[in-house]
Amino acid sequence: MHLTRDIIENTQDTFRDTLGIVTDEGKRKFVYPKKPKGRLHKARVVFSVFLLAILFITPFIKLSGHPFMMFNIVERKFILFGLAFGPHDFYLFVLATISFVVFIILFTVVFGRVFCGWVCPQTVFLEMVFRKIEFWIEGDYLRQKLLNDSKWTAKKISKKLVKWSVFFALSVFIANTLLAWIIGTDELYKIISEPVSMHPGGFIAMLLFSAGFYFIFAWFREYACVYVCPYGRLQSVLLDQNSIVIAYDNIRGEPRGKIKKAEVRTLGDCIDCKECIAVCPTGIDIRNGTQLECVNCTACIDACDNIMDKINKPSGLIKYASFNNVKDKTKFKLTPRITGYLVILTVLIAVLGILLYNRNPIDFMILRTPGMLYQEQPGGILSNLYSLKLTNKTFDEVPLQLRLENLQGEIKIIGSDINLEPNAVSETKFLVMLPKQKVNNVNTPIEIGIYTNGEKFQTFKSNFLGPANQN
Ligand code: SF4
Ligand code: SF4
Repeated sequence: MHLTRDIIENTQDTFRDTLGIVTDEGKRKFVYPKKPKGRLHKARVVFSVFLLAILFITPFIKLSGHPFMMFNIVERKFILFGLAFGPHDFYLFVLATISFVVFIILFTVVFGRVFCGWVCPQTVFLEMVFRKIEFWIEGDYLRQKLLNDSKWTAKKISKKLVKWSVFFALSVFIANTLLAWIIGTDELYKIISEPVSMHPGGFIAMLLFSAGFYFIFAWFREYACVYVCPYGRLQSVLLDQNSIVIAYDNIRGEPRGKIKKAEVRTLGDCIDCKECIAVCPTGIDIRNGTQLECVNCTACIDACDNIMDKINKPSGLIKYASFNNVKDKTKFKLTPRITGYLVILTVLIAVLGILLYNRNPIDFMILRTPGMLYQEQPGGILSNLYSLKLTNKTFDEVPLQLRLENLQGEIKIIGSDINLEPNAVSETKFLVMLPKQKVNNVNTPIEIGIYTNGEKFQTFKSNFLGPANQN
């Protein structure tokens, strides 16, 4: 990235050709980050607990017996804040997705990868759950490395077995939670409590999710962020020199050099202690500038601040800052790019809000059957065939009745009564029957009232096709 090129003046450019997580031979270099501690880490712990509480509690919240949130992508049924959405709301999903993408772009242009460090489930679970358990069972980074490099003794086997078991149990728990978000807690309970043969699909999904989470958090780890995550890859096009990133203040820090007792320091504030590298979960040296691997976990900020405290220098040698802020001390400013994204996002959210506000719980469409003329019925009656397409967006069954509003006549439903299943689309046909003498035109305007439980829900206007010679 140019940002990287510009920010460091004394850098050795070798870091551009390598990844902190890959050896020169192209093999994986397992990262053993030092246990992070500091002001930002404490804040991230509190925020992560809050996010995890939302994640694990939300599937159990119900409104009138229905989940508060559910994302059933298999059956294309979604519940957001107690409101049901289905395939018929596809246009809302498209708009919401576009708005979300624009929001992510805007957020990234302004705040860089703050999302990765604070909100992304991958980081939250890895750094705040799995890594903490690893520290607890195997000790800090040096002990972990020592253990991994040592021979298989009873102690090593027992530690590894405990860790893997806890990791797998947690993976199963996370997989179950994910399933609860997709199919709801009631269905999940059935999968857990009933014989496997009754829910083979659900059981296989649970196993696959569990294995997937175990693989990611026990082994794959930072590879997911560096190699797989498309968001990380997009940084190079989304960030600019005004974006806030985790930045090393090279102007203050360089030239770096070890600190010596009782010296009059002529070098910069960086004492080259490499603590910022030791804590980095992706194994990079942030002093080289913004890099693809940086997930904004803030561990290097805390580590450097702790060092600055010890040598009586002000904190913030590594901090949240933009390139321009480090270079010229300029404060954040609204650029035309940010303004453009803001305008687009505002328009999108406004349109989405209007569509949501005007969304009817039941949608209907009445069409006279195309290509059909009127029919002559016994007793001087003329009839037209109509089709009625209904979409029930509620959780309840809705009985519907049709009444002719502006003329004397009859409506005859073909088949059984209209009873709308919850959250379903149905189609029915009906005849409008009028006495011949009421049909004075080729097209006679008619009004059909749609009633549910005796209450008028909506009126629909159409035309009744009659013989041309009635005038
Ligand atoms: S922790 Fe701070 S002082 Fe130490 S090497 Fe990193 S930037 Fe320099
Ligand atoms: S460079 Fe700093 S913020 Fe980025 S991943 Fe490493 S420790 Fe975290």
